[in-house]
Amino acid sequence: MTQDPLPLELYEILACPMCKGDVSYNKDKTALLCKKCKIDYPIKEGIPIMLPPDMRE
Ligand SMILES: [Zn+2]
Repeated sequence: MTQDPLPLELYEILACPMCKGDVSYNKDKTALLCKKCKIDYPIKEGIPIMLPPDMRE
């Protein structure tokens, strides 16, 4: 059992910045995944990096 890296309240309000759709954890819960865009947003030290890939370094 992997513990959720984010509080449920935060998890529930998070949305994909591209399509505003829901995101869900990947298998290891190290990232949030938008199934529509096929983009994953990494979770770094408990903070989800909700940036489109072309805005990341
Ligand atoms: Zn999306």
